Amino acid sequence: MATHDQYIGGEWVKGESYTPNINPSNLAESIGEYARGGKNQAEQAIQAARDAAAGWGAGGIQARADALDTIGTEILARRDELGRLLAREEGKTLKEAVGEVGRAGYVFKFFGGEALRLSGELTPSVRPGVRVEVTREPLGVVGIITPWNFPIAIPAWKIAPALAFGNTVVFKPAELTPGCGWAIADIIARSGIPAGVFNLVVGKGSVIGDAIVKSPDVNGISFTGSVDTGHQILVEATKRHAKVQLEMGGKNPLVVLDDADLDVAVNCAVNGAFFSTGQRCTASSRLVVTDGIHDRFVDSVVEKLKALRVGDAIADDTDIGPVVDQAQLDQDLSYIEIGQKEGARLACGGDRVTRDTEGFYLSPALFVDTDNQMRINREEVFGPVASVVRVKDYDEAVDVANDTDFGLSAGIVTTSLKHAGDFKQASRAGMVMVNLPTAGVDYHVPFGGTKGSSYGPREQGGYAKEFYTTVKTAYVTG
Ligand code: ADP
Repeated sequence: MATHDQYIGGEWVKGESYTPNINPSNLAESIGEYARGGKNQAEQAIQAARDAAAGWGAGGIQARADALDTIGTEILARRDELGRLLAREEGKTLKEAVGEVGRAGYVFKFFGGEALRLSGELTPSVRPGVRVEVTREPLGVVGIITPWNFPIAIPAWKIAPALAFGNTVVFKPAELTPGCGWAIADIIARSGIPAGVFNLVVGKGSVIGDAIVKSPDVNGISFTGSVDTGHQILVEATKRHAKVQLEMGGKNPLVVLDDADLDVAVNCAVNGAFFSTGQRCTASSRLVVTDGIHDRFVDSVVEKLKALRVGDAIADDTDIGPVVDQAQLDQDLSYIEIGQKEGARLACGGDRVTRDTEGFYLSPALFVDTDNQMRINREEVFGPVASVVRVKDYDEAVDVANDTDFGLSAGIVTTSLKHAGDFKQASRAGMVMVNLPTAGVDYHVPFGGTKGSSYGPREQGGYAKEFYTTVKTAYVTG
């Protein structure tokens, strides 16, 4: 069985231990043995990144642009193969996985261009004879901590801007998806970047992640994951004044109004709530539906869900892959029980299903007769589980949509220009979708939310530089 090491200071380094990477579609299958590092290896990686920071930061932007373009080109060329790896280790369908890999490739290429586009300002001073120059500089060492649900796209959208703007990187992928993390490291290692500029350390969040967050040599931390971990990281990072950027959960509403095109509404709901097995922070977990269309909408969604095929992520006819692991499956099942105890009615799904291979298969669950105060409508489930909240009109829909601790994405399905226009303003989410699913975003524009969903500057697109650079103001005379 192939073993996969860590990448520290330009060398492949043995882990302290190795763990099998289990396929959630087939628990009898291991995709490979992956290194787990210890605290001292995290410290070595941080030191290597620290030593490389000055050279990379001061180095030429052409070298950075070329490296990122090379990385993006290889990812795109290997889209099918890497997509297969992703589908096997994470459990989203092959089509979704190949799409995600493509996105990662384009992200690297985009930030290759951004390395060349970074500019500053030259402005007159209020003092005669003085000029003011505003420039952007790298932060130094950036710690990147990522979750399992987008195991190649999320690392890409953090690593690419970090490198583009002259930072060095210590990257810790999620324990459940080391395969994509390793593949990125392998591609970056062959892209011609100097030793120490990029480092991969795999292992537990409480060991490797913690070491990164607490190290005085790490200048910025970009994290995507759960609310609790994000909060812990925020407290630790701010204690030592490190720059921090967090992307956490969502409880994203999709509002469906009486005047909606029913097919559009059903497709947006099913795609947004259940594709990628509902394991997306932008998933539409609350379907906020007005009275006049409610029953037709529920019937059509149930019919569509019953026709979806839950199965092996890499099988051609699979619509929904397995849940990622036992812990997540237990969480999903527990919320299904909580919902029923709270008085919600399960219109369909929510059952463990068996397939030819043993895997974490769960049929997509739709709750109806729910109230926005129920736990299933307040806490992130992170699985193929969604609730319908019935409302009387548009105004109540907006109130319910915004009545949440989160604010990542929100959608509306309507044929009314007035309501669509109003919702874009009234929504308190960072991203608003009109007649589109709440999940599914472009790679060249900002991504992020409000309230409990995000903290710090936006990720992606031109806005990524807000986190990955620091601003200097120079006053010059003569
Ligand atoms: P998820 O539910 O996506 O697994 P987590 O927040 O547990 O969410 O994990 C997201 C990432 O954060 C993973 O890479 C994980 O290893 C890491 N992590 C977990 N705990 C900590 C911690 N205390 N400090 C730093 N990173 C952590």
